[in-house]
Amino acid sequence: MSLDKRLGQRFLPYGANYLDWSDMHELREAVGHGVLFRYQTESESIASRLERRVSQRLGAAHVLAVHNCTEALRLALISTRPRTGALVHIPAVTFVAVAGAVLSSGLVPVLVDVDDSLSLDATLLPQDTERVIVAHMEGTVAPLPEGVPYVVEDCAQALGGRFPDGRHAGTAGYAGTFSFHHNKVLTSGEGGLIVTGDPDAWATMRCYHDHGSARVPGRYPTWNADAHYGENFVTSEGVAAIQFQQFRHLDELLAGLERMHALAMDELPDRSGLEVLPRAPGDVKISLRFRCESRELRDTAVATLTERGIANWTLDKYFLPAHPVLAGRRSLYADGFPWSLAPAGLPLALSRDGFARTRDLLDRTLCVPLSPELPEQEQVLAVKAVRQALEAV
Ligand SMILES: *Cc1c(COP(=O)(O)O)cnc(C)c1O
Repeated sequence: MSLDKRLGQRFLPYGANYLDWSDMHELREAVGHGVLFRYQTESESIASRLERRVSQRLGAAHVLAVHNCTEALRLALISTRPRTGALVHIPAVTFVAVAGAVLSSGLVPVLVDVDDSLSLDATLLPQDTERVIVAHMEGTVAPLPEGVPYVVEDCAQALGGRFPDGRHAGTAGYAGTFSFHHNKVLTSGEGGLIVTGDPDAWATMRCYHDHGSARVPGRYPTWNADAHYGENFVTSEGVAAIQFQQFRHLDELLAGLERMHALAMDELPDRSGLEVLPRAPGDVKISLRFRCESRELRDTAVATLTERGIANWTLDKYFLPAHPVLAGRRSLYADGFPWSLAPAGLPLALSRDGFARTRDLLDRTLCVPLSPELPEQEQVLAVKAVRQALEAV
């Protein structure tokens, strides 16, 4: 494929570049086996193998494969045995799935301002905060608040990231959630994982994700006297097989992202008013993130890049205070559940200035995706093209 074509296609998820029949051993195995339900056989399923591999690679004690990251977030929340209407603090800048998972678990989201790096500003959390979801957006590994009993790390955009102390993103809080959706670091179209270090939490999640049963593989589900209700989030062998194949490419992908980021730092546009936000050693930066001096400059840069066929995006869509469901407290329930359970008179937002600064940061942010799959020479050409475009702005 020509470089121009590839540059123009960088809205492709990174992992999709590894979708290749010659590499689909696990999927061939699953189909050859003739069983796509993970609990149908007593031999180790591909889903279990995937969980074991992820556990080793991320240093996570317990792993459960599910359909997507939204289910994983719901499992994390519900396994804490909350009261309905309990508050969950979430960043004001993230994908709406985070708020959706809170609401569909019968809990109430409280939006919290973000800091310069667009991560939840933990200094705003009240002393008695019980539940927080921290999202590591675009591969920037965010610090976790201290002293909060249930910190859920949303790693949908940060598979393979590490904290400064070497621990993997997703393993430092109560639970970590991952997505293999089309637009993520690795992809099986849809797909999710949840990890936790807490064996009781894992047992609760495993039951809830399989109709409330503690199923023994090869058997019909059975219910213990202390069973609770559940849903069906059980993954399929076909999806798990593709996730496994994708996961084999994680290190290659991380190296490709890091290399292109370094190349881009050598080709920064010689132009004032466009600052590149830094990359910490453990980040899985999937894009170059520019902070522009004004919204006008940002919008002109978007127009120039787009005109030249260079993929780019803004993060405006992640501004949750303006999302209709949150702004309008929308619900499908006739009584407005779970918003109806929110403590009266308590603002469901923690912001110093009504999110003005957060909005301003977003308005001035521009992302240019990195292409980890390109050979180094093509990455060099790609970053030069970005540089030239931005210098022409
Ligand atoms: C994509 C995404 C999700 C939802 O993931 P799905 O697997 O699509 O359910 C949640 N949080 C963040 C930050 C995301 O980017």
